[in-house]
Amino acid sequence: SSLRQPFTINDEQVFITASIGIATYPNDGDDVFTILKHADQAMFKAKEQGRNRYSYFTHSMQVEATNRQQIAMELRQAIKNRELEVYYQPIVNSETGKICKAEALLRWNHPTEGIVKPEKFIQIAEDTGLILKIGQWTFKKVCKQLKKWIPKYGENFQISINKSPKQFINRSASLKWLKRLKKNNLSGKNIAIEITEGLLLDNNEKIQKHLLMFRDAGVDISIDDFGTGYSSLSYLKKFDIDFIKIDRSFISNLENEPDNLALIEAIIVMSKKLGIKTIAEGAETQYQNNVLTKSGCNYIQGYYYSKPIPVKEFDKLVTRHNEQL
Ligand code: C2E
Ligand code: MG
Ligand code: MG
Repeated sequence: SSLRQPFTINDEQVFITASIGIATYPNDGDDVFTILKHADQAMFKAKEQGRNRYSYFTHSMQVEATNRQQIAMELRQAIKNRELEVYYQPIVNSETGKICKAEALLRWNHPTEGIVKPEKFIQIAEDTGLILKIGQWTFKKVCKQLKKWIPKYGENFQISINKSPKQFINRSASLKWLKRLKKNNLSGKNIAIEITEGLLLDNNEKIQKHLLMFRDAGVDISIDDFGTGYSSLSYLKKFDIDFIKIDRSFISNLENEPDNLALIEAIIVMSKKLGIKTIAEGAETQYQNNVLTKSGCNYIQGYYYSKPIPVKEFDKLVTRHNEQL
């Protein structure tokens, strides 16, 4: 409660909150290092749960922490051992019905666990900094793929890549991406970078410059999971956004929740006025596909067309899909 009072520093009011982790002797450890380590784990939990709170150490936290360490260790080897693979999910132009883009989504072919999805390892990759290395690797793969797909699928074919906020901390990683584009004779337009609303809220000049660097290279910028973050709309104009990806949560329940349709329509109208194209994420049914097309959504991505799949399957899918048109 003491910390909750505003502080005055140089005539400015500063607000801080505390996140507290609690571990007790002797239950949670019988030496000072163990107790501090466990208090630290409990503090991370408090932060994770939204900060400004306390959390007691529990043994499940320890199991979780050990688990994460194990994953981090294995992930370090995963690139070297060629266990990572890029899957691609098609994105369909709702007007022509053609597959015109794909989103690159990582999969980890784990030697004992089988195919591991990003939700199990991306956060850990971010926390450990491994995401930078993984990001480089993914980009390299995507460039290689574009070299093969552009002659087949046309020069406008675009692959979008997810980039987490941690990948915006320093410019050198992104400069490498741009160099690689050049080296491969690829146009920026063949790449879209997916970022989340949170990144833009930061109002950080560095991030703005960082994004401008991509824009100057012709790379498109998409806002992923749109409508689930803070959605402070002013950033849409400020950052020159190319695509808005309407979050799956608005689409998955279209059949039962008519309010969602109102929100989707509003997002589409707003985007049109701002000159931004819309992509619906996670369309699973014909009904959803039809409603989205009717509402003027520009692109549709979702299990209705295909799950994310390996390269070979993607090639087969495009051939089959376009033959039907
Ligand atoms: P995202 O970028 O929002 O990707 C869309 C997620 O929705 C994918 O999950 C995709 O498989 C799933 N999805 C697409 N259509 C449908 C549908 O019709 N129904 C359902 N139930 N799900 C659908 P995935 O592949 O598990 O990826 C999860 C998240 O992991 C991604 O969310 C993205 O934030 C992150 N991620 C994946 N690959 C990378 C990467 O290379 N780098 C970074 N930084 N993050 C990545
Ligand atoms: Mg995405
Ligand atoms: Mg998304």
